[in-house]
Amino acid sequence: MTLKLNDVTKHFGRFTAVDGLSLEIPEHQIFGFLGANGAGKTTTFRMIIGLLDATDGKITWNGENIDYSKSNYIGYLPEERGLYPKLKVRDQLVYLGRLRGMAKNDIIVELKDWLERFKVPEYLDKRIEELSKGNQQKIQFISAVIHKPKLLILDEPFTGLDPVNVEMLKQAVVDLKEQGTSIVFSSHRMEHVEELCEHLCIMQQGKPVVHGSLKEIKRSFGKKNLFVNADFNLEYLKDIPGVVGFKGLPDGCKLQIESEAISQKVFAAIQDKGFVRRFELEEPSLNDIFIEKAGESYE
Ligand code: ATP
Repeated sequence: MTLKLNDVTKHFGRFTAVDGLSLEIPEHQIFGFLGANGAGKTTTFRMIIGLLDATDGKITWNGENIDYSKSNYIGYLPEERGLYPKLKVRDQLVYLGRLRGMAKNDIIVELKDWLERFKVPEYLDKRIEELSKGNQQKIQFISAVIHKPKLLILDEPFTGLDPVNVEMLKQAVVDLKEQGTSIVFSSHRMEHVEELCEHLCIMQQGKPVVHGSLKEIKRSFGKKNLFVNADFNLEYLKDIPGVVGFKGLPDGCKLQIESEAISQKVFAAIQDKGFVRRFELEEPSLNDIFIEKAGESYE
């Protein structure tokens, strides 16, 4: 059940939103889809689920084109949430579940389970407009997964949620993966991606600039972070050849170094200068990689 995008392009008039994107989304995994605002993530999702036609290229799932007959296997949480404010949660979900081919009784059973799990059983007979934004999002999430899709596409699922709800939704996503769902999600929060995804892709202006397994991406980035805490001024370290970044911290500094070997030069340079509390080499964060590769700062 692999999802494959082969040289997919989308033009809006003269503008190219997605530009020759080829990807293979591994089965039973959570795949992270990243990129600055406007990079083409939502457009790609819309093409995957058939809301938009690709200008060029091919999208297949398990070797077949995705069309209406597959919609029961796909779940989609859109970026712009779209529930009917006047409907009760129960009626909204029954409506959406029926569209996905479920029987009414099964929908109610599943819905009650999910509301229980999200600690809001009392919402069953509330109107959507009576719920807070974050709670509406839980309902929207339920509507994306109630029919147990095999492929789940989540466009910024954690935006606007408080930390407790983020954890609750994250756990739900992990559980779905463990039950065999293949999941693609977009996020601007790198720590969520680091925590959840084995594979990911970073888009820039419609093209993938980084693509692969998180481990491999970090390894091949080469640069590392070196944290030094000391009771003397460390600014001179930024002049050591191979030190490519310097950020002062309240009790020390964070250096970005070209390669692991540079840490030895830094070590030599701080010896006998005073008291050193911390000297720690770390893998680059996805945040470091994103900022360099996607070339934009963001929240
Ligand atoms: P964000 O992180 O801000 O949600 P995104 O990566 O999801 O961004 P898209 O929504 O896919 O980005 O948009 C990609 C580009 O395509 C943007 O420049 C956007 O303005 C443009 N675009 C998207 N839909 C249309 C459309 N229907 N007509 C014209 N341009 C569009």
